[in-house]
Amino acid sequence: MSDCIFCKIVRGEIPCRKVYEDDEFFAFHDINPVAPVHFMLIPKLHLASLQEVDASHTALLGNMLLLASRLAKEHGLGNGFRTVINTGKGGGQEVLHLHLHVIGGGHIPPMVRRD
Ligand code: 5GP
Ligand code: ZN
Repeated sequence: MSDCIFCKIVRGEIPCRKVYEDDEFFAFHDINPVAPVHFMLIPKLHLASLQEVDASHTALLGNMLLLASRLAKEHGLGNGFRTVINTGKGGGQEVLHLHLHVIGGGHIPPMVRRD
């Protein structure tokens, strides 16, 4: 996708603080972090969101979770971390290229409060 900002980051057209890259995935620090560690893991394949996936993406989605766990550990999050995938307008997604937020370090509050 020529005008997708995450595709542009993958192609090196927009600078980023790169965390990881292989043939299938790219990871980079969030420009506006919400915790001491906050990076995004994305497939290089442009998929707008989790609403666009089908059975042909099963391996990609599984590999993405395995890689997220590995990268979190490598970034000092052995004590645990939060993963977030915002999906579509209803899910508050701002950038329409599937991405997994990996967030940790410091205090991570409960995501949903019932009080
Ligand atoms: P979303 O709300 O779509 O799940 O998350 C998009 C994330 O991308 C946000 O946390 C935002 O800070 C991050 N982001 C948006 N534009 C850029 C950019 O140009 N570079 C980097 N590194 N992060 C970005
Ligand atoms: Zn894209």
